[in-house]
Amino acid sequence: MPEITAAVCRQPHGALTLETLRLDDPRDDEVLVRIVGSGICHTDLAVRDQQLPTPMPVVLGHEGAGIVEAVGADVTHVKPGDRVLMSFNSCGTCPCCHAHAPTYCYNFFPHNFAGARADGSFTLHAGEEPVHGNFFGQSSFATYALATVRNVVRVPDSAGEVPLERLAPLGCGMMTGAGAVLRSMKVQAGMPIAIFGAGAVGLAAVMAAKIAGADPIIAVDLHENRRALALELGATHAIDGRDDPFGKIAALCPQGLAYAFDNTGLSSIIESAFNLLAPRGVLGIVGASDPTAMLTFNETAFMGGGRTVKGILGGDSDLFGFLPELIEHHLAGRFPYDRLIGVFPFEQINEAIEAGESGAVVKPVVVMEG
Ligand SMILES: [Zn+2]
Ligand SMILES: [Zn+2]
Repeated sequence: MPEITAAVCRQPHGALTLETLRLDDPRDDEVLVRIVGSGICHTDLAVRDQQLPTPMPVVLGHEGAGIVEAVGADVTHVKPGDRVLMSFNSCGTCPCCHAHAPTYCYNFFPHNFAGARADGSFTLHAGEEPVHGNFFGQSSFATYALATVRNVVRVPDSAGEVPLERLAPLGCGMMTGAGAVLRSMKVQAGMPIAIFGAGAVGLAAVMAAKIAGADPIIAVDLHENRRALALELGATHAIDGRDDPFGKIAALCPQGLAYAFDNTGLSSIIESAFNLLAPRGVLGIVGASDPTAMLTFNETAFMGGGRTVKGILGGDSDLFGFLPELIEHHLAGRFPYDRLIGVFPFEQINEAIEAGESGAVVKPVVVMEG
């Protein structure tokens, strides 16, 4: 049982506290990873604030990258010393997992949000007190994490020069935005797309829309720094969300949008985006919304135009195929998501969270000491 340092979340909206915990040894299907870096994602903060019912105290973090320290008897695809990325966990036995759509795993909640292994056992302890872990099958705000055979991906040798802390955010935010464009909506070259919200996920979508050859690529955001970044990363237009974005998009795309991508989770924006869709247009939704929110669309416009409204989780990523693909795009210079990253030492995780929440840094990443 290794002793680890972990950032423990003990109260909603509160600061995380660095504590010494004990982590279980890996079971047969588990992988012990020494964490080098972990991205901080909106979902970590949503759980901290109890918008999702993960029990506390808990170690969050679900964009971890590091080096394999030990593997269980059934683990053959990685070995000690391998550089790995971690992502979401899934059951491997439900119809969606069988259909290579693990982001829609029927058992997603128990495998990612329950705070314990699927059998209810705890992996983390503070003295005699159990601490919830297994967050997204990892809990990467720690010096070590236990992941499973299903959510650890070996970093290809071609990326041997890329620091692990830079690779870390691929496992959730980057994968979600890029996958939504390239996999879920299957954006076609020459077709217009508007992206509402240009945080980490929205900017990943902008870069992916450029890879797909969409045109125009319109980003909408309230923050000036994010609009500037969107333009640098491939957006052809960036519109201030307070400055009549729907009127401006309608003027830019008089035939309507082939694709609209929402990261805001705000019903009013989603409904206005729907109203801009061209015939056969696709509206993709990833934004975390108020759990009670409802959407209203005009049925004639929906049916008559053959339009699609699509809920998207994790960019329809199949980890073992899509994460290496994104790494290749990055190595080729087509996916420069490192421009979004601000690095903080692990000890400053609360400052890193604050920088993400204020918008000063698009994607904060904490780095654990060698
Ligand atoms: Zn996330
Ligand atoms: Zn499943």
